[in-house]
Amino acid sequence: MSQDTISKVCVIGAGTMGAGIAAQVANAGVPVLLLDIVPEDGANRSAIAEGAVARMLKTEPAPFMSKAAARLVETGNIEDDLAKVADCDWIIEAVIERLDIKQGLYEKLEALKRPGAAVSSNTSTIPLEKLVEGRSDAFKADFLITHFFNPPRYMRLMEIVTGPATDAGVATRVRLFADVALGKTVVDANDTPGFIANRIGTYWIQLGLNAAFDMGLSVELADAIAGKPMGVPKTGIFGLVDLVGIDLMPHLQASLTSTLAKDDPYQAIARTHPLIEKMIGEGYTGRKGKGGFYRLNKEKGRQKEVIDLASGDYHAADRPAGPRGAAAKGDLRKLVETKGEIGAYAWAVLGGTLAYAARLVPEAAGDVLAVDAAMKLGYNWKMGPFEMIDKLGASWLAERLAAEGQPVPAILTLAGDRPFYRVEDGQREYLGLDGEYHKVPRPEGVLSLADVKLATRPLLRNASAALWDIGDGVVCLEFTGKMNALDGEVMKLIVQALPLVQSQYKALVVYNEGSHFSAGANLGLAMFAVNIAAYSEIEKLVAGGQMAYKGLKYAPFPVVGAPAGMALGGGCEILLHCDAIQAHAELYVGLVECGVGLVPGWGGNGEMLERARNAARMPRGPMPPVAKVFETVSTATVSKSAAQAKELLFLRPDDAITMNRDRLLYDAKHKALALVEGYTPPEPPEFRLPGPSGRTGLAMAAESFHKRGLATDYDLVVSDYLAEVLTGGEADVTDPVSEQELLKLERDAFMKLVHSSRSVARIEHMLETGKPLRN
Ligand code: NAD
Repeated sequence: MSQDTISKVCVIGAGTMGAGIAAQVANAGVPVLLLDIVPEDGANRSAIAEGAVARMLKTEPAPFMSKAAARLVETGNIEDDLAKVADCDWIIEAVIERLDIKQGLYEKLEALKRPGAAVSSNTSTIPLEKLVEGRSDAFKADFLITHFFNPPRYMRLMEIVTGPATDAGVATRVRLFADVALGKTVVDANDTPGFIANRIGTYWIQLGLNAAFDMGLSVELADAIAGKPMGVPKTGIFGLVDLVGIDLMPHLQASLTSTLAKDDPYQAIARTHPLIEKMIGEGYTGRKGKGGFYRLNKEKGRQKEVIDLASGDYHAADRPAGPRGAAAKGDLRKLVETKGEIGAYAWAVLGGTLAYAARLVPEAAGDVLAVDAAMKLGYNWKMGPFEMIDKLGASWLAERLAAEGQPVPAILTLAGDRPFYRVEDGQREYLGLDGEYHKVPRPEGVLSLADVKLATRPLLRNASAALWDIGDGVVCLEFTGKMNALDGEVMKLIVQALPLVQSQYKALVVYNEGSHFSAGANLGLAMFAVNIAAYSEIEKLVAGGQMAYKGLKYAPFPVVGAPAGMALGGGCEILLHCDAIQAHAELYVGLVECGVGLVPGWGGNGEMLERARNAARMPRGPMPPVAKVFETVSTATVSKSAAQAKELLFLRPDDAITMNRDRLLYDAKHKALALVEGYTPPEPPEFRLPGPSGRTGLAMAAESFHKRGLATDYDLVVSDYLAEVLTGGEADVTDPVSEQELLKLERDAFMKLVHSSRSVARIEHMLETGKPLRN
């Protein structure tokens, strides 16, 4: 079955979740009907859904990946437009969390929908069996729960719950669409309260709050312990509650205490803290309210303050002496065994949460994989609970729980001395409920470099890059440095890879599994070279990078770039040299060199000029493409999605986009293979550039930015160097500039800028703060 079987979707309820889900459907290129109620005073009967779309166009981070996506959303209301659900293959209900309202809606839908069209609820708390009460068997067969996380574009988890009557074909269709088209990792959950992620997440948060109050810990110390050192979001628990809204906590608590079994451990820890009730009552509901456990005091220049849990007063936040050494760096055993309050708090939160999570297999989830995926993708934990238990040791955890008189979950006893995960014959395996190990399944269409790395050795490797055989004659070039930064070692490995691929393989993919494809050139190294005045080394690195990238471009085999996350500066330039791109939808790509007082130096200027010249609707003549590239590069513009990267010309129109991160490498490999037959490398371009008159034109444009306060003095200097390169220096339209000549101009401009103290100041500032200096 293919995802094409869902070609139109309806989302009912245009609130936080419904609107965001509709946007993600549209991001997948699928038309979506978004309905809400008719407002009481409404002259405009579809004002709520329309307002939701308008609001989303202004929201950051943006729910829509492009303006074109927003045009795929048709708005309406449930009184006039509900009959249109007859055209929809999947109807997603995301109305307020009230059983009567949801049931009433399903009754209407039952009369209008096409048989076989899926209906799902985004409910967080209502059991499926209650939702379908009173509905026909046919409706029940089409019904399931699809639980998205907020914000739906960015959170990768979708929990799915099917009932005993749900048709397997319907569930498969929804599952596949959510995976391939919406990019979600679909985790099967049982029809139990809170499903998996929120059940564990709520327990964890509650434990964290209770223990901090009981132990008299400061909020900062609690967050310094149950934050980064545990591999959970560095906000810590209090910071996280501020973010999601403190007022949400009593609702979650009420819902779980009323639906969970009386002997569920959550019942024993569910507590209200008077201070939290008081905060909610006074509007201190977190970041969306007057502040929360933390606040920025506007009267004191937005000073960061934190609440004292005992007195309820705010005071300036300070850096507590949190975990140190290995305990701070992911050694969970060291963390919970740290002496004093640090270890005690860590154990209270982590030990309790892991014990609770372990109970939930098989109650809420069929296996440990589901639990781990849910917490990693739904709560942004680095490791899932069972991966954490492996770090502690299942038997160690069981012994400590037993020693404290706490019940030992059956799955810990089952594991005994064994880990929940192991690698056997180069394959990752997990411990099943039958007590046996099973291969971690990879759905068709998923290829993971991590798996390849377990099973094979690299073809080439040095300090900053590696080359892997990913099967079927395709190799993968991986960056391995910190933040996947690029340096001479990467270039060296590329140069070594070229003859190897040519003689023994068919194609090359540039890909890695870091959170970001590449942060660009290693600025730290560049600074080091500047500090010892090793300018010739810098020039060598620039020339070497140009040569390596052109080597990829003109290699006699196809090269496909497969970026995800940030691809900045030199990370963008390598993509510009690929024959084709298979990008993850979440791609933040840009030539940001001007921000650090430089110009692109690894061939990016010429490649961008070529794209601009070939772009659809580009006016004729030498100047329009130059002006377009100048605008994008001088302002260091970075795309906010792969779709937008096409608009900015970093991607070509026929470059492909993969919505699901896990499917990126597979898709890229197949794109590369599709290019193999009859492959011929591109011809080197010749540029017709406007020369000095064009440069003057660009300077005037930059000056107008400067006058409006949008560009600094030094921005004008840097952008003039950029203009010099893009216009071809002393070129003349009648006199074509070769690619090599353009590379020389680029190198010269780069080297002049590297000698400037104001560029150096920008680089230093970026290294120190991660932000551009506006000098
Ligand atoms: P919300 O309050 O932001 O939006 C609910 C929308 O439903 C409102 O626009 C309201 O006008 C509309 N509505 C009310 N009655 C309706 C009806 N009869 N027909 C059509 N629309 C109607 O709520 P939300 O946060 O978007 O939550 C929606 C659903 O998603 C709930 O079931 C909630 O439990 C679930 N959920 C929420 C989150 C979250 O983080 N907010 C996460 C996962 C699931």
